[in-house]
Amino acid sequence: MVLINKRFEKYSKIVCDRVDVEEGEIIGAKLLQELSNSKDGIGLAAPQIGIIKQVCVINVKTPIVFVNPVIVEKSEETFVFPESCLSYPEKRVKTNRHVEISIEADNYEGQLYFSADSKDIQDAFECVCVQHEIDHLNGITMFDREFKLKPYVASTKYGRNELVQIISADKKVNKKIKWKKAQPLISTGEWEIRTVTAA
Ligand SMILES: [Zn+2]
Repeated sequence: MVLINKRFEKYSKIVCDRVDVEEGEIIGAKLLQELSNSKDGIGLAAPQIGIIKQVCVINVKTPIVFVNPVIVEKSEETFVFPESCLSYPEKRVKTNRHVEISIEADNYEGQLYFSADSKDIQDAFECVCVQHEIDHLNGITMFDREFKLKPYVASTKYGRNELVQIISADKKVNKKIKWKKAQPLISTGEWEIRTVTAA
């Protein structure tokens, strides 16, 4: 195993350099090899093995190598997911991740689409894992994405079909929706109640 935590600490905040596809695929093969040595890893990024290049891999349903991946589209909707990381074997963190993402990578034509909005839990694993690994390439760890609970709003205050107005945490987007739909959004910590209108 080359996965040395102390080494990764040094690299965990660094934005990795872009790489050409040929070199990227060689690094990708190495990452997949390394990943297959781990007991329960489903993804790995180059900086985790001390290579400061924009390459990461996942292996949930099938092995995928990403060379210079960029998330080009992401859903506004997020969900909370318990994550772990091969570089921090003892830790587990609940994070906020986008439900849908589209990726462009130099070793693929067009876009790769991942969605956690599926009956298959493997889809959620893939979607979270891709976001986790791409973060590693940009100096972001799961700890930076930690889901923090906002002060609890008593659910008994509103009827299920009562209309409530919610506002996004950045105050840019307003929505008027039923409480039963608002509640899960608020629980992500990305939305809050604004005013209440009787239905
Ligand atoms: Zn990780």
